[in-house]
Amino acid sequence: MLHDFQSDPQFADIKPFAGTVWLSSPTMHGGELRYMKQAFETNWMSTVGENIDETEKKLAAYTGVSHAVALSSGTAALHLAVRLAAEQLYGIPGRGGTAFGGRMVFCSDLTFAATVNPVAYEGGEAVLIDSEYDTWNMDPQALERAFAIYPQVRLAVVAHLYGMPANMDRIREICKRHGALLVEDAAESLGAVCQGKAAGSIGDYGIVSFNGNKIITGSGGGAFLTDSPECARRVRKWSTQSRENAPWYQHTETGYNYRMSNVIAGVVRGQMDYLEEHIKAKREIYQRYKQGFKDLPVRMNPAESAESLSNCWMSCLVVDEDAMCETIRSEREYLYIREKGKTCPDEILDALRCFHAEGRPVWKPMHMQDLYKNNRFVTRDGERTAKGGSGAGDPSVGADLFRRGLCLPSDIKMTKEQQEQIIKIVRRCLE
Ligand SMILES: *Cc1c(COP(=O)(O)O)cnc(C)c1O
Repeated sequence: MLHDFQSDPQFADIKPFAGTVWLSSPTMHGGELRYMKQAFETNWMSTVGENIDETEKKLAAYTGVSHAVALSSGTAALHLAVRLAAEQLYGIPGRGGTAFGGRMVFCSDLTFAATVNPVAYEGGEAVLIDSEYDTWNMDPQALERAFAIYPQVRLAVVAHLYGMPANMDRIREICKRHGALLVEDAAESLGAVCQGKAAGSIGDYGIVSFNGNKIITGSGGGAFLTDSPECARRVRKWSTQSRENAPWYQHTETGYNYRMSNVIAGVVRGQMDYLEEHIKAKREIYQRYKQGFKDLPVRMNPAESAESLSNCWMSCLVVDEDAMCETIRSEREYLYIREKGKTCPDEILDALRCFHAEGRPVWKPMHMQDLYKNNRFVTRDGERTAKGGSGAGDPSVGADLFRRGLCLPSDIKMTKEQQEQIIKIVRRCLE
């Protein structure tokens, strides 16, 4: 049963929040409505129009790529990106065939499932690559090892978790050396910088997302990024049902209904003007947490390195091993024993929830998911059999971050005072 933190004397001076303090929710400004209204009043309510054109232009200019294609979601963008990569590598699949036809693709392990699922849509076998502590993202050493075991692999899909770019310098070099293409999942990291370039513009193909929880949103939506006019043209064509240039509906390829709507594009177009403001607010939230926790046995997620700077989309913390109380998780439930001076992510999350603040465990790694537990999984120490389950005794970096880590409320509408209360709640959990 959930401990009643509200009536616990240790939390006596903390009052529940009047509303909910969210993990990361949409923040609108006004310009979005103007562009949406413009679409409405001119009847451009379909998948063609000025909002789409302008969104693509703004996004390409911002990320420094020559072409952005506005799509219905980040997942759709990833699907077309991996399909395009497969086509380049293996040719166009025959009728009824999938693009990968059972071939392996290296994918980030510690990520949201949407990074990996599109490989499965196209009949690929995701080989999951463990994370490193420095960035929480794909470990270049593990990737190197994966190429040593499976030199035939020609594609890697890398996610930048929580806005912090992966070690792209090394990952790109390794892929290049092995003749592999690189798809960059920048769904969580629009506005992050890596080697002076925008996240999403570094791989062969990049994608961003405008889902409701991302740093800016269209309520939904996504985009494909590339420097190749031919690739942009193909993705645009596939996203609008692969219609050929003919008076009637003429098709030679399988198509998708993946284009962004001009109404949604109005929201994204309006939000683009506030992207820098959102990043600034996210970074301030991150710094306040960091300051607030500096004497506690916890660590924050990485937000910068020699080559990159995070957009700080999500502030996370990891409880030091010595400060972890006893805790176990099954597939769907958790249990912990409260202990003086110690805590665990689930206790902190319960406490936050009691005071009406939303947190979340660190994304559960793909190799621990029922869905991908039979996939190959490579760490820097070698290949492991992914087993799924709770990760007890699992020495991978991903399993460790999942066990000890949580996402803190990172909503930019959260006030400083609310954030101070959240810091206090975490502090009390450790007293
Ligand atoms: C949100 C997200 C996606 C999917 O984006 P949608 O627009 O929701 O389809 C893909 N990858 C990562 C890492 C994400 O966080």
